[in-house]
Amino acid sequence: MQKIAILYDASQAVLSTFDLDEVLQQILIIARDYFHLQNVAILLLDKETDELYPRSQIGWDAGHDAVRLPVGTGITGSAARQKRPIYAPDVRNDPRYVESAKSTLSELAVPLMVRDEVVGVLDCQSENVNHFDNETIDLLTLFSTQASMALQNARLHSLERRRALQLKAINAIAQQTTAVLDLKELLSKVCSLIKHAFQVSHVSVLLKEGEEDDLFLRAHYGDLTPRIPEDGRLPAGAGLWGQALGSGKTLLENDVKSNPNYIGFYVETAARMCIPLVAFGQTLGVLILDSSQRGAFNPNDTQSLESVADICATAIQNAYYVERVKQLAYLDGLTGIFNRRFFELRIAEEIERARRFGAGMAVIMVDIDQFKRLNDEFGHLLGDEVLRQVSSIFHQQLRKFDAVCRYGGEEFAILLSQTNPQHASAVAEKLRRSVEIWQFPGVPRPVTISAGTAIYPDHGSTRDELVKAADAGMYAAKQAGRNQACMAPGLSIQHAAGST
Ligand code: GH3
Ligand code: MG
Ligand code: MG
Repeated sequence: MQKIAILYDASQAVLSTFDLDEVLQQILIIARDYFHLQNVAILLLDKETDELYPRSQIGWDAGHDAVRLPVGTGITGSAARQKRPIYAPDVRNDPRYVESAKSTLSELAVPLMVRDEVVGVLDCQSENVNHFDNETIDLLTLFSTQASMALQNARLHSLERRRALQLKAINAIAQQTTAVLDLKELLSKVCSLIKHAFQVSHVSVLLKEGEEDDLFLRAHYGDLTPRIPEDGRLPAGAGLWGQALGSGKTLLENDVKSNPNYIGFYVETAARMCIPLVAFGQTLGVLILDSSQRGAFNPNDTQSLESVADICATAIQNAYYVERVKQLAYLDGLTGIFNRRFFELRIAEEIERARRFGAGMAVIMVDIDQFKRLNDEFGHLLGDEVLRQVSSIFHQQLRKFDAVCRYGGEEFAILLSQTNPQHASAVAEKLRRSVEIWQFPGVPRPVTISAGTAIYPDHGSTRDELVKAADAGMYAAKQAGRNQACMAPGLSIQHAAGST
């Protein structure tokens, strides 16, 4: 009768809640009260160190919760080693006994088993010699299965909760990344979302770029201290990431210090996961998760993280694609220089900048002379080649922050920022001269250009005014016999007077 009552109470305790500490505490209270014990504890096995540590306890002197007992040591450790209950009726005569409470005279340790694996030990101690008879031992052994079940349930439950949380995180990442088409913004978002969802110390994205053999640290987020700067370069074949890329598989290292291939770029990293970023069969780079705690990564999370990596890889691919399309939209297909659309965008920015900083800027309109005749004489294909070479000459002659655009046909529009009339007309003259002396293959005579230059604010303060003035300058050059670079007519004072 008593037997049934105990088991009933214990199973009720196990079923009452998913909170592991609460269940274990309930079980210990029942054991203590029914069997009149002084000290009871549930110790769990730390598989890494093969030690037992108290997870829940009643009785005991202060400090017992800090105990670490190697498997095989003491009555408790022996029960874990031998996978069966060990009983010491009088601990004073038992050589295996290791004192853990002063008043203890008899001790019973029952292993907690999940399938055939020891997960912990139920440790029962009494102040009486011979406290446990055979029936009590049987009963406590049965009883311990309830504790095992509670442990198992709690573990499954926490796994499930973890899975559910991870699924939620994956969804959030998918939702929040598909809309972000700017690569830099996307990557930093991805890093912070993953860090929070998977509770790691630091998240990094290393990306391959073009034909480069190296990887670049394009984004990172977290608590660790970086050893390399953002956009820093790392060899693709080295380190744990190199291994992951080489095999195309996720690599999990829970103790980086023990791995000779490990190369760190954060000071505190103790464990690391490297997940290749692959989209449509193309490897884009690696997602790296770092933890400052050894053993932090759970192999059960690998699948969730791989799903996240897949989402990220697709998002990165999309961002690349959008960047490329954006570039294409502003480039001229024949010559590879900027097109008119880019000119319109850029001139507005340049005017705004010049206005704000009180600096000068210039527009130079260029038109190739007698181009129709050149086409007629040497063919359209050669005409195309001349357009490409003229573009290339302009590109080489100008500064990085000046913009050379194909305005249409054989006309070019050039934007010079931070300039003055003297400098701008010198540039126009230099361009004219460079083309004049260039020997175009297949064209047995010089090709020439006419150029007109307009200055902000002297010739106008809007796009239309400046383009019109530069056109007028070019027209004047044509009128003067072509192969000329002319400043737009009129001074700023005249222009101001004319417009009032
Ligand atoms: P002008 O000195 O007065 O500028 O004479 P032009 O012959 O250069 O002037 P016009 O505007 O009459 O002719 C421009 C020619 O440029 C007409 C067109 O066939 C040619 N053209 C425009 N776009 C292209 C192109 O993409 N490739 C080639 N090969 N020719 C082009
Ligand atoms: Mg023309
Ligand atoms: Mg022309």
